[in-house]
Amino acid sequence: MTDAVKVGFVPFSAAPGGILVAFCGHGLEFGPATRKALGPALSLVEGAAETNQFKGKNGSILDILAPQGVKAKRLVVIGTGKPAELKDHDFLKLGGTLAGKLTARADTVTVIAELPKGTMSADQAAAVAAGIRLRAYKFDRYKTRKKDGEEAALRANVSIAVGDPSAARKAFAPNANIVDGVTTARDLVNEPPNVLFPVEFARRAGRLRKLGVQVDVLDVAAMKKLGMGALLGVAQGSTQPGRTVIMRWNGGKRGDQPVAFIGKGVCFDTGGISIKPAGSMEDMKGDMGGAACVVGLMQALAARKAKANVVGAIGVVENMPDGNAQRPGDIVTSMSGQTIEIINTDAEGRLVLADVLWYVAKKFKPKFMVDLATLTGAIMVALGTEYAGLFSNNDELAERLTKVGLATGERVWRMPLGPEYDKQIDSQFADMKNTGTRNGGSITAAQFLQRFVDGTPWAHLDIAGTAMGAPKTEINQSWGSGFGVRLLDRLVAQHYEGKR
Ligand code: MN
Ligand code: ZN
Repeated sequence: MTDAVKVGFVPFSAAPGGILVAFCGHGLEFGPATRKALGPALSLVEGAAETNQFKGKNGSILDILAPQGVKAKRLVVIGTGKPAELKDHDFLKLGGTLAGKLTARADTVTVIAELPKGTMSADQAAAVAAGIRLRAYKFDRYKTRKKDGEEAALRANVSIAVGDPSAARKAFAPNANIVDGVTTARDLVNEPPNVLFPVEFARRAGRLRKLGVQVDVLDVAAMKKLGMGALLGVAQGSTQPGRTVIMRWNGGKRGDQPVAFIGKGVCFDTGGISIKPAGSMEDMKGDMGGAACVVGLMQALAARKAKANVVGAIGVVENMPDGNAQRPGDIVTSMSGQTIEIINTDAEGRLVLADVLWYVAKKFKPKFMVDLATLTGAIMVALGTEYAGLFSNNDELAERLTKVGLATGERVWRMPLGPEYDKQIDSQFADMKNTGTRNGGSITAAQFLQRFVDGTPWAHLDIAGTAMGAPKTEINQSWGSGFGVRLLDRLVAQHYEGKR
């Protein structure tokens, strides 16, 4: 969506104007630049804090008219709690909390980016800026009028005052690319399914070409030729033809083995012949959250010129009931040659991924594959909406994902795999069937995917609970969260390219 929040960095000496935002530690501890900006008005602010029982607890807010003598009309003080306890991700949240106090009017805002001991680091100030932009996102392109009191998208000019503005600017540049990638992913998830059908999805992925990403689109004929019978079996019930889109960013050494990200892109999932109940079926426009993340991630990596070779691959289809739709009982042959008995046509995501995983494993022989999919309701039963499910055949990859998850706040929780689960998807008529029993539904889905990774180090992220409809947070007020872009960008940055 159009982003009307401008964020820049200035020195502490820049004069405040409009809205002044300051931070304070636990016990009302202000930093030197803040004390200087408040001058003799500091005691008035302390008085207001006492009246409002504001003590500087992390995330708490004191929002007052600027006292006389302060060159601003409004003063917003945000508590940081104990500065020693702040993690990277907390600075994003502080930025989000701050943006939550701004209104749709074109505000001029000055943020004094310091902790009680003095200036925030360049990275911390950059995280505050990124948090502001993530929070400001609003998807309202289909609203032709606003109800009374309904906030329009945020418009603000934010100057972040910090010790070393040019270092902060430099630190923010890649973060701004990542925020843009999250924005793309959120937009794709939020778009209605009559607008974002598979061919249109592929067209939008094609926009990455202008960033230097090589984008190849496989149409139905090309997929037939490759033998992608599992993906095509899902797509055949829709009048909208399916697509597989391969995106390649070659920012690493020539010939260096790529890393690969694969996304489920079911643009709308009715369940097919095993049709879903009507309640909340509209949410199934978000069943392409994995593919949306891969497109947003590739955008972020290319825009910040990541020094890595990366393949992004998405299978985009629509799962519809129709005279030509596949039936429970059908047996399809996947690109791998393995046959699959369809038990439930609503377990379609794994069928799409089966062929795309196999294609990527064979064609690119990547260092690893990470797939993302809004795959099972069962993962929400297990983990709620706080963690994505992580399944992996590789401990090192799983550990790295877990750690970058904690660092970015896009958390993943490892779930088990094993032969006892795997045998639950053996079929009496084909090599396997596409569902197990109700119990352990997320695990048997992951076992199914593992049969198509050809021994490649692999991790599967079940993002059904985190990609859409998750509770709003400091940095996300949108239905489509863009989950996974920040997580996987960090995975690449930290482990698969030189330091940025
Ligand atoms: Mn389904
Ligand atoms: Zn689905």
